[in-house]
Amino acid sequence: MRNVAVLGSTGSIGLATIDVVRQLGSPWRLWGLSGHSQLGVLAEAVSSLEPRPAMIVGSDPRQLEAFSPTAWPAGTEILSGPEGLVALAEAEAVDTVVAAIVGRAGLESTLAAVRAGKRVALANKETLVVAGSLVEQARRRSGAELLPVDSEHSAIFQCLQTARQEGRCPPRKLILTASGGPFRDWTPRQMESASVEAALNHPTWQMGPKITVDSATMMNKALEIIEARWLFDVPASQIEVVIHPQSIIHSLVEFEDFSVLAQLSPPDMRLPIQYALTYPQRLACPTPPLDRQRRWDLTLEPADLERFPALTLGFEVAAAGGTAGAVINAANEAAVGLFLKGQIRFTDIVPACRLALQNHTHEEHPSFDRLLELDRWARAEVRRWHCGANS
Ligand code: NAD
Ligand code: MG
Repeated sequence: MRNVAVLGSTGSIGLATIDVVRQLGSPWRLWGLSGHSQLGVLAEAVSSLEPRPAMIVGSDPRQLEAFSPTAWPAGTEILSGPEGLVALAEAEAVDTVVAAIVGRAGLESTLAAVRAGKRVALANKETLVVAGSLVEQARRRSGAELLPVDSEHSAIFQCLQTARQEGRCPPRKLILTASGGPFRDWTPRQMESASVEAALNHPTWQMGPKITVDSATMMNKALEIIEARWLFDVPASQIEVVIHPQSIIHSLVEFEDFSVLAQLSPPDMRLPIQYALTYPQRLACPTPPLDRQRRWDLTLEPADLERFPALTLGFEVAAAGGTAGAVINAANEAAVGLFLKGQIRFTDIVPACRLALQNHTHEEHPSFDRLLELDRWARAEVRRWHCGANS
């Protein structure tokens, strides 16, 4: 059997993973699933699976306690809390862990899967943003395989794979594409009064709320620059961002001879999820093919760093390394939370991150505990700034 654990199985990536594994069929099995607050969604998914998962984790203990125990199948082990997530990530029967929890909440369990030497299909980019160098150390020690699920990084991984087979020289530039999000053509003035509803209305991707707001500020691309820095072990100066509103070209790699390889497919996360599971095999996928009966206008244009200052932050943090990733990630999570509650403006999010970054004292080689401490500090810093601005 190929036993898969899905951390964060009730979200957008989690449910897409369940679909992929179900369609792959035997020998693939959804061995363990976790959910946080939407336990009804989890119970529904569980009841549709054959065989039933061997382990279920309710990562919010209060939600799990309040949920009817009869919803879970007999014989399935039920675990609770963050410790339950780590136990699932480390379970001996599991070969592949899909890290699909959103935000810093996915850090410990993703790191546990890496330490346990699993194949880790990584959607939770925040883990690399916060603790890229520690993840890299753990990966080297355990021999874990870290395979990107993020569509841009999967595209780069696929291009590099092809290049390696051809014996090409190392890449010159990794070029991340960005759709530009819902505010691609908005003026800074218009963005000042952008509503939550408008920020959540992504033109090409259906995703969870946090990453959808990140796409609107382009902080998602900033996090992806940092993610690419760690995943592919390249300096920030070798990473570029171009705007590609159609979300068909998922990213590109330029080589020394200036030839460029790219990976194209419809915007559907099931493809990069499946590739991370089945690599190095490429199997038939439930995603539709690119429709070649219609005309495709695929455009690439430079990113506007002035309208989207998050990008500059992303390059700076990727170059700085150390504690910078933990600070920007936590400040962003806190600011996005405030924006979603209607407490700050859309255009306050990136300046809040910049402020937290400026106010912290950079350290080159932080311990894990220090990163967690800074995560708490940066969240408090954003709250303090917000309260100060409103007093
Ligand atoms: P989502 O909001 O749809 O789902 C998040 C999942 O995390 C849910 O299962 C939820 O129960 C769980 N969760 C939330 N808070 C938790 C906590 N405190 N502890 C444990 N579990 C918790 O998010 P998503 O869009 O599926 O994104 C998941 C991750 O994948 C993010 O890191 C995102 O950046 C990345 N990603 C998503 C997409 C996409 O298309 N959705 C694409 C690329 C990368
Ligand atoms: Mg992406």
